[in-house]
Amino acid sequence: MTTLYPSAQHYLSRDHHAHSFGSEITPALRVAAGERIHVQTWDCYKGQILVDADLAKVIESSQMNPATGPIYVEGAEPGDMLVVTIIDIQTQARGAARMYPGKGQLHDKVKAPYGIFFDVADGVITMNENVSFPVKPMLGVIGVAPETGSILTMPAGKHGGNLDNNMNTIGSTIYLPVKHPGALLGLGDMHASMGDGEVSGTGIEIGGDVLIEVNVIKGITTDYPVTETADSWITHGVAEEDIQLAMKIACEEAAGLLVNHWGFTYEDAFIFLSVACDLGIAQNVHPSPGTVIAKVRVPKISACPKPFKI
Ligand code: CA
Ligand code: ZN
Repeated sequence: MTTLYPSAQHYLSRDHHAHSFGSEITPALRVAAGERIHVQTWDCYKGQILVDADLAKVIESSQMNPATGPIYVEGAEPGDMLVVTIIDIQTQARGAARMYPGKGQLHDKVKAPYGIFFDVADGVITMNENVSFPVKPMLGVIGVAPETGSILTMPAGKHGGNLDNNMNTIGSTIYLPVKHPGALLGLGDMHASMGDGEVSGTGIEIGGDVLIEVNVIKGITTDYPVTETADSWITHGVAEEDIQLAMKIACEEAAGLLVNHWGFTYEDAFIFLSVACDLGIAQNVHPSPGTVIAKVRVPKISACPKPFKI
């Protein structure tokens, strides 16, 4: 337990982090299913922008997105689903957002690196004397190790990783297909707020504290992670610099669950996706080398009240 989270059985500081999800990385912590962990996370720049107060500082991508972990979850085996419920997120008091020439939807307007510091207090983000808005904390990076080898924390993929879905927030449960024994969970890249698309290339990048509970569902899997909120479940699709393909994958994931778990015909699933579900963009920092992420939000109704029928 910790002072911030008395219900936590474990604490993992951000000193324990990796820049990849790797099957060979020694676990920083071992936990049992059902346990709660207080995880401290770095911002995506590992503090370098905030400490140096240099918004133009260039940081190598291999040094981006430190993910606190890996956390070995006992009983998680390939073919299972790791279940991570985000019970709480507390951000630090200051974050930063940036833009760079050649990156993001309005890149042609960007002549030089530029950034803004944001203050966060009492649930409100202050951008400047005119602009303030509510805190909507989220985790950009949440993932597990691949079967073999390793994947940097910059891309997203079937293992999760840099999913940048702003629905991965307080109260959400993220289901991650386990590929390696123990799952080897890592998380980081907290944002105080990030809009759909993350169009300039960053959210409000910030460090903080997270309380999670981990569980395992045996013998159920998907191709990509799935997120569950109070009123919806959300599938993901990831592709390299191809948002159209990412959208198609997210739709296929949603249709697959509707058919395989809830008895929809493929035709009915396709129509239901069209008339009642929301296809959207989690992250599309374009142009920029790397993965882009689409999502499909399926409302919880009696015909499909959760992602998996178990
Ligand atoms: Ca990110
Ligand atoms: Zn970020």
